[in-house]
Amino acid sequence: MSLKISLAAVAAAAAFALPATPALAQQKFITIGTGGVTGVYYAAGGAICRLVNKDRAKHGIRCSVESTGGSVFNVNTIKAGELDLGFAQSDVQFNAAKGVGQFKDSGAFGDLRAVFSVHPEPFTVVARKEVGAKSFGDLKGKRFNVGNPGSGTRSSMEELLGAMGWKLGDFSLAAELKADEHGPALCDGKIDGFFYAVGHPSANIQDPTTTCGAQLMSLTGPAVDKLVAEKPYYAKATIPGGLYPNNPNPAQTYGVLATVVASSKAPADTVYQVVKAVFDNFDEFKKLHPALANLTPEAMVKDGLSAPLHDGAARYYKEKGWIK
Ligand code: GLU
Repeated sequence: MSLKISLAAVAAAAAFALPATPALAQQKFITIGTGGVTGVYYAAGGAICRLVNKDRAKHGIRCSVESTGGSVFNVNTIKAGELDLGFAQSDVQFNAAKGVGQFKDSGAFGDLRAVFSVHPEPFTVVARKEVGAKSFGDLKGKRFNVGNPGSGTRSSMEELLGAMGWKLGDFSLAAELKADEHGPALCDGKIDGFFYAVGHPSANIQDPTTTCGAQLMSLTGPAVDKLVAEKPYYAKATIPGGLYPNNPNPAQTYGVLATVVASSKAPADTVYQVVKAVFDNFDEFKKLHPALANLTPEAMVKDGLSAPLHDGAARYYKEKGWIK
């Protein structure tokens, strides 16, 4: 009897003393807000999570992606505490950090933190081939998709229309379809063209160029020159010819960078692990989507970031000697 008791006591003590596996000890779920499932954010978010989850036995973090309406939605949802990290265009990050543009009414998001920047997102204008348009200017008066509210696409579109002195009413229809819907709508003849801020190649540009020969076109002119000269987050960009079927010529345009952001309230250890997963496995990360192929850590830790760096990200970059 006494032996039984002491054995039970030993077993209990042993169970207590046994280190719980880290995954059980600190199981933590994080969600990254992305964009439409046929865009690049969703794929790039999946790439980040895949690398985080590879080491989840060590750090206990389980990462998943959520398809969302895009940049502005992600920033607002991080602010509300309902997303841990999210993708945001560099112009949207800038406006949110400073409380300007579409964030004028809500004010500066003081807790917004930059994690890193990712791929370039040239503003991409695509039209049905039957329209015969050569540039964005030819699409005035047409049925045009300006992007869903909450997308970064839409906020960049509005800044461009403002600079050109155009209004939504200058299109015969200003559609607000999500990016997942713009390709089918174009090939079905429901819209004549669409605007999309996205990395390349993107599945939802690949589709309409393949299916109905949709045409990419240039987006240049005095309004674009003025925007690029005045706004720190814009740069001229070229979408290479031959990247998409039926589009042998390059398209001259301008655009932003995709970035990943979080709130200062996200624990530094968590953000540190996310950043570490990406940069410790950088060659693998770049292979997970062709839009990520040309990234370099040096550019990712500084370009396109206007909010302060998140503490957890800064810790890793300092360890690497990438920042002071
Ligand atoms: N830049 C787009 C937006 O914020 C999303 C692009 C993507 O999903 O890859 O609306």
